Amino acid sequence: MNNQQHKLATKLIHAGVAPDPTTGAIMTPIYQTSTYVQNAPGDHKGYEYARTQNPTRTVLQNALASIENGKYALCFGSGMAATDAVAKLLLPGDEVIVANDLYGGTYRIFTKVFANYGITFHFIDMNNPENVRGYINEHTKMIWAETPTNPLLNIVDIAAVAAIAKQHNIIMVVDNTFASPYLQNPLDQGADIVLHSATKYLGGHSDVVHGALIMKDAALEERLRFIQNSCGAVPGPHDAWLILRGIKTLHVRMQRHCENGEAIAKWLRAHPKVGKVFWCGFEDHPNHEVAKRQMRGFGGMISFTLKNDSIEAANEVLKRTELFSLAESLGGVESLIGHPATMTHASIPREDRIKNGLVDSLIRLSVGIEDVDDLIKDLEQAIG
Ligand SMILES: *Cc1c(COP(=O)(O)O)cnc(C)c1O
Repeated sequence: MNNQQHKLATKLIHAGVAPDPTTGAIMTPIYQTSTYVQNAPGDHKGYEYARTQNPTRTVLQNALASIENGKYALCFGSGMAATDAVAKLLLPGDEVIVANDLYGGTYRIFTKVFANYGITFHFIDMNNPENVRGYINEHTKMIWAETPTNPLLNIVDIAAVAAIAKQHNIIMVVDNTFASPYLQNPLDQGADIVLHSATKYLGGHSDVVHGALIMKDAALEERLRFIQNSCGAVPGPHDAWLILRGIKTLHVRMQRHCENGEAIAKWLRAHPKVGKVFWCGFEDHPNHEVAKRQMRGFGGMISFTLKNDSIEAANEVLKRTELFSLAESLGGVESLIGHPATMTHASIPREDRIKNGLVDSLIRLSVGIEDVDDLIKDLEQAIG
């Protein structure tokens, strides 16, 4: 079914999905198979071997292509496997410009894996899109941005950076994990590839690790599909099914994540023991106007500091929350709390970390979809 004309809430439920042709099952079956029987060599129903194609995965890929306003999607065993596939578009000697406020695993794969293959990565401040121009030369093949960023919730102007990329024939990749397709569609802003850790909001229930790439360009899809099949980091059909199930409620979950996020961001800001609150919905957020233009809401990710800026003070809060569970990851229905300095960003030297705004007391919240009054009460008793 081509649902490209429908609105997002309808597409999330129907796009790419059709009743199972053999039984009429409304929900796509989990095709738990490694191979497919052929009538004669090459005479088959479009499926040969399950690394190459699986019907459950195909339905999910079609759904994801539709909800990100792309033409094609490719699914992977994790968000990092999707990142790995994109990086394999590059050759020795190529250069990449990367926004410096970045998921730690992405920083790690670029600096510790792909740098060894003769690819150069320039990590730059992309809060001002014009900063990109100074790093472009004839070797620049890719620009990589994440927006909003983790954990400082900075915003990159996708349309402005994509316009610069286009002028120079450079591939622009946007990691859209934090916003999800509910809040932002980077392909509409001129990006070439959208990446998701579907582990987070797309899956939404903290029960699966999964990655996806979405694009419009057929030649780019063919190159990435070749890499997907050759390198083999494909998801199992059960995992694809869990994501397919998760995205059916993305809009209702995201709506509540946004409402709860707004209430908690405002409550934190008024708290006498809280220092700075990072949330792109505040009018005085440095790129609030860009966020308003390219996003349909501000999400449920919030970071804040304590006036008593110490690891000990942060630890006291982390120890006391009951509904907010101390854990890495984000985007699930349950609220999580984390401490970047000692958890996700512990590998960054303290001096560099603090220079980039990741101070000792910085606490990150992934606000879930519980009752917001209970969440605020939990924070109130934890912060004191
Ligand atoms: C989690 C995450 C990834 C990596 O995805 P995995 O599914 O954990 O491999 C990439 N980018 C962002 C922004 C993430 O939050």
